[in-house]
Amino acid sequence: MSVVCEKHSVYQNVVMQFNKAADLMNLDRDVRQILSKPMNEIMVNFPVRMDDGRVEMFSGYRVQHNNALGPFKGGLRFHPAVNIDEVRALATWMTWKSAIADIPYGGAKGGIQIDPGKYSQTELERITRRFTYALGSNIGPEYDIPAPDVNTNPLIMAWILDTFISTVSPQMRNASIHVVTGKPIESGGSIGRGKATGQGVVFCIIEWAKDNSFDLSKATYTVQGFGNVGSWAAKLLAEQGSKLIAVQDHTGTIKNSNGIDPFQLADYVAEHRGIAGFPDAEVMKNEDFLGTEADIFIPAALENQITAETASKVKVKLVAEGANGPTDPEGDKILAQKNIAVIPDVLCNSGGVIVSYFEWLQNKRSEFWDLEEVDRKLYKKIYGGYVRVRDTAKKYNVDWRTAAYVVALQRLEIVYKERGIFP
Ligand code: NAD
Repeated sequence: MSVVCEKHSVYQNVVMQFNKAADLMNLDRDVRQILSKPMNEIMVNFPVRMDDGRVEMFSGYRVQHNNALGPFKGGLRFHPAVNIDEVRALATWMTWKSAIADIPYGGAKGGIQIDPGKYSQTELERITRRFTYALGSNIGPEYDIPAPDVNTNPLIMAWILDTFISTVSPQMRNASIHVVTGKPIESGGSIGRGKATGQGVVFCIIEWAKDNSFDLSKATYTVQGFGNVGSWAAKLLAEQGSKLIAVQDHTGTIKNSNGIDPFQLADYVAEHRGIAGFPDAEVMKNEDFLGTEADIFIPAALENQITAETASKVKVKLVAEGANGPTDPEGDKILAQKNIAVIPDVLCNSGGVIVSYFEWLQNKRSEFWDLEEVDRKLYKKIYGGYVRVRDTAKKYNVDWRTAAYVVALQRLEIVYKERGIFP
């Protein structure tokens, strides 16, 4: 008998996760209505001149899900698969993430539907600047603060910063540099922001290992996606003595049961823009990657990787979600049946937005913190979120994703009840 599995959109996944938690905690009916839809959805179409003189049109998005706890906050993604459904989902996850981490932000996300590999550096700069201009006052240092995500980086944030401050009055320019985070250090970025998401993932794994008397110095792990999040998580987990045995990215899949050096692999990827051809590993079929037997799997690429079709292959003890939305609700059910622990994205990858918040604070106060201070404060925030989620999971006897949603929704519910609804 063949089983036909219904595939859900990424936003439908969010709605299912939200409903499950809202039912469990008996979320106030009115608050549920408010949080079940993003507040603003902005779509812009804008022209950009290419290097050969032609003009091309581009479509960009910014979805602002909620700002009850503070300004909208979330990354910008440049990828061919960017669409309104995906951005809506990513924006909603940002609202929960900020609430769980206990930082004064709401949730947003944006992006442009392009394959950045097809454009020259000068074209990418003009695309970024024109997108920023098209967004206009829909972003702002006290209103909505973008940051890097898939295929965007500190240099792109510097272009956004420069374009944005060129459109405000000269007196307001230096007071506006916190319009983006994840900037290069020299342009007002924070030390430690580059590694922050991977660092947060590894702080969560360390806490989980302590709680489960699990020896990380003997652990093996696999990583999907070897960009900002995947490479930093891989390097920092190697420092705990764990062994990286398989990696997948958009260029292919590699394995080595004796261990892959993540530092060498990161240097290789910086030069070759992908893991394909890395000398100290064997090539593996892409479809066999998820079946690799290891202790820990860190998805750090895109959404919907662990699903009804693939979850049964996963053979690890822990999935630590560096990516946003790598596991769909069907995938979650199968992992739970297999007794595989999951540290959910909204907790596990919150290190990025936490250090973005630190960057924003440093900009507002004209301060520069050192790495020791950033890492110490990051650990404190991540550990707080970890304990809240873990203890809520115990209290309600539910999976950690549902518990994480409950933590976020309880916080938002209090704020709406205190403030009421205008008018
Ligand atoms: P990145 O652009 O630096 O890296 C993306 C990686 O994913 C690359 O290695 C790429 O090869 C890989 N990839 C793309 N398509 C793939 C495919 N089909 N199969 C396998 N691998 C594929 O992006 P990033 O910033 O590291 O983001 C990765 C994930 O982490 C995303 O889900 C993002 O939303 C999430 N995230 C990022 C941050 C951050 O601070 N950058 C914070 C929180 C969450």
